[in-house]
Amino acid sequence: MSTIIIHHDDCLRHNTGPKHPEATQRVTAVLGGLEGLKDLQMLPAPLANREQILRVHPTEFWADMISKEPSDGIISIDPDTYLSSGSIDATLRATGGLCFAIDQILDAKALRAFCATRPPGHHSEPETAMGFCLLNHVAIGALHALERPGIRRVAIVDFDVHHGNGTQAVFENNPDVLFVSSHQLPLYPGTGKSDETGCGNILNLPLAPGDGSRQFRKAWNQLGLPAVHNCEPDLILISAGFDAHQRDPLAQIELQDADYHWITRQICDLAMDSCKGRVASILEGGYDLRALATAGRAHVKALAS
Ligand SMILES: [Zn+2]
Repeated sequence: MSTIIIHHDDCLRHNTGPKHPEATQRVTAVLGGLEGLKDLQMLPAPLANREQILRVHPTEFWADMISKEPSDGIISIDPDTYLSSGSIDATLRATGGLCFAIDQILDAKALRAFCATRPPGHHSEPETAMGFCLLNHVAIGALHALERPGIRRVAIVDFDVHHGNGTQAVFENNPDVLFVSSHQLPLYPGTGKSDETGCGNILNLPLAPGDGSRQFRKAWNQLGLPAVHNCEPDLILISAGFDAHQRDPLAQIELQDADYHWITRQICDLAMDSCKGRVASILEGGYDLRALATAGRAHVKALAS
């Protein structure tokens, strides 16, 4: 079975302005990095539907965001999170793309998937869009999967350099979802300390500024990967941020392309043991265009191997 790459040009319509790091070129860079890789099938991301969104976000939150989308120009909804004309469709394609990818995998039409979409999602809390994120795609995807017969537990692996506070907020009282995150601390948004454990289903692996491959692999080898193994998930989702890369301008973790290949390979191996290899990944952060291309390629290469 092939690995599917999900994208839609609507994701380029979310305009954050000329100096914002979460720029349209990010997705172009990631897709460019995949050129020449074999056994990939490109599929368009559908729009998410209202029912999917409301599994995580309240009706009022979603209605408020739709009402705020400008017909022209850009408005800010927090100091670094913006809405332009086209933002709603962009975020709907990202959420819809992940839900579609999960269906393709659970219907055995694909084994793995990567959604090259934007804006990212893991900072978005049920009632608060923040940190460049509007809808929390991976949280919606996990709850979408849990609606399917036979899917009892989902593990979310988040290796973005920022803590996925939104994903943690959604699941901290839901034992059907394991959330494991490695991230830099101190760093935005400030959450993700190791004593934040939810109902025993949250595992935070904070890294210090300056940490690199050795500390990252040690944290996942000793704690993160065993937790995913022990939870025996029926599906693994990845919040794939590439901003822990040594080239990234927003953080001080020193990962290299090979680390992204390594962690992805480890996750796929665990998936072979517990859930027939089923892994769906979605782009979160990553703000150096060259690193997005090379680390994204390493990630997808490992997904597809
Ligand atoms: Zn990030």
